[in-house]
Amino acid sequence: MAYQELSLLQFKKKFPNERACRKALKKTRWPSGFVCPKCAHTRAYDRPKRRLLECTGCGYQASLTAGTIFHHTRTPLLKWYWAIYLASQDKGGVSAMRLSKQLELGYKTAWAMLHKIRKAMGQRDSRYTLSGSIEMDDAFFGGTGKGKRGRGATNKTTVMVMTETKGDKAGFIAMQTMKSVSGERVEKVTQKHIEPGQKIRTDGLHAFSVLKKMGHQHDGRPIPGKQAHEELPWVHIAISNAKRFLLGTYHGVSRKYLQDYLNEFCYRFNRRSWEQQMTDRLLTACINANPVTFAELKA
Ligand SMILES: [Zn+2]
Repeated sequence: MAYQELSLLQFKKKFPNERACRKALKKTRWPSGFVCPKCAHTRAYDRPKRRLLECTGCGYQASLTAGTIFHHTRTPLLKWYWAIYLASQDKGGVSAMRLSKQLELGYKTAWAMLHKIRKAMGQRDSRYTLSGSIEMDDAFFGGTGKGKRGRGATNKTTVMVMTETKGDKAGFIAMQTMKSVSGERVEKVTQKHIEPGQKIRTDGLHAFSVLKKMGHQHDGRPIPGKQAHEELPWVHIAISNAKRFLLGTYHGVSRKYLQDYLNEFCYRFNRRSWEQQMTDRLLTACINANPVTFAELKA
């Protein structure tokens, strides 16, 4: 699909009120007009308060928000749309505090909305796998500076980082938290994020030897510490950018939500060439994401 570029003024014009947002949602769900799933009737009453369409033929009620992140929320769609606009416009992300002030929402509501948007980002990226020439390395996020550093540090979370190399640029990236690095976990994360039979460069850690058994072309020659930035350049750039991102707007994040923030980072990074279309792209991602409840976010 073709994504639109939307300036603030264009966005405001396109979505001036609740009705316009509802209309846009309706168009996404039924691009060629409403058709009742029960009786195939094509006319329906609008039930705006409950965000429903009611078939004039058989009375069947079709939800406008089913299959979107707005499902079962009481927040007006207009505020949702603006939240997506704000989240898409700032490269560094938007904090729940700022969103709650700008959209006149309770902090808890703003927090949950941003997390739902993050889930939509993660779901969107989970549809893609990396291919070609790939760098892969484990990194350590969070915790304080004290204690053991690097592999084996207890207060940090291990994150597997994978980056595509496209000529002299980085392509797509993926990041996945894991308990620790083992052959079994490397195999799982690789299956999830990398196409079969690719070219993968890692350091000499034994756990990576599973990559060859999986059918990848694996270069796992040991890398002396000082050369890591030359041998695995994109992975290291991605790691330092991600750490800066987490510290910037969010002032560091807890282990529990680290994966969600990493998903946000990767989503933004992977679309860095389409900045102008970010709002439209994120809107599409949110409209096509499985809903999550507040309880599920807190679990
Ligand atoms: Zn019907």
